[in-house]
Amino acid sequence: MRTAIYPGSFDPVTNGHLDVIERAAKLFDRVIVAVAMNEGKHPLFSQAERLDLVRRSVKKFPNVEADKFDCLLVDYVEQQSAQAIVRGLRAVSDFEFEFQLALMNRKLNERIETIFMMPKETYTFLSSRIIKEIARLGGDVSSFVPPQVRTALTKKLKATRS
Ligand code: ADP
Repeated sequence: MRTAIYPGSFDPVTNGHLDVIERAAKLFDRVIVAVAMNEGKHPLFSQAERLDLVRRSVKKFPNVEADKFDCLLVDYVEQQSAQAIVRGLRAVSDFEFEFQLALMNRKLNERIETIFMMPKETYTFLSSRIIKEIARLGGDVSSFVPPQVRTALTKKLKATRS
């Protein structure tokens, strides 16, 4: 059984993330999308809300599960008896940070490999940060995120305004 962990903030999950998930699901027997706490990033959605949105968005993939983690990533990977960490690479700008993270994780646990996946070109400009910005300014995000995420964004932004 080959298991991969796809960790991230997923604040919120986008079609770019889902493209990476779909590719990983073809390579591994089991993929766990692991929602990090990441309080330092001051997420718009709580960890429980982000997890719920990921869970609803990955229902269509039979070998994909959603979970959350609050510990060191390599420890979580061990807990799940997984072999690999999946990360997405959109552009050269992602590379430096991702490279550093992958090498640090290898230092912490040599057994675990990091695999990088590139999304379809149409998703290379997509980020959770940009989606939140567009939604905040009243733009239409329906072609960038699953329908439940669009609804949640509208609701959340209304609540934060009032
Ligand atoms: P983090 O805070 O851990 O960077 P994100 O949710 O922003 O969490 O991203 C998780 C992973 O998914 C990262 O490796 C990021 O580079 C990747 N990613 C984010 N958006 C996209 C996208 N549109 N296409 C491909 N990979 C992406």
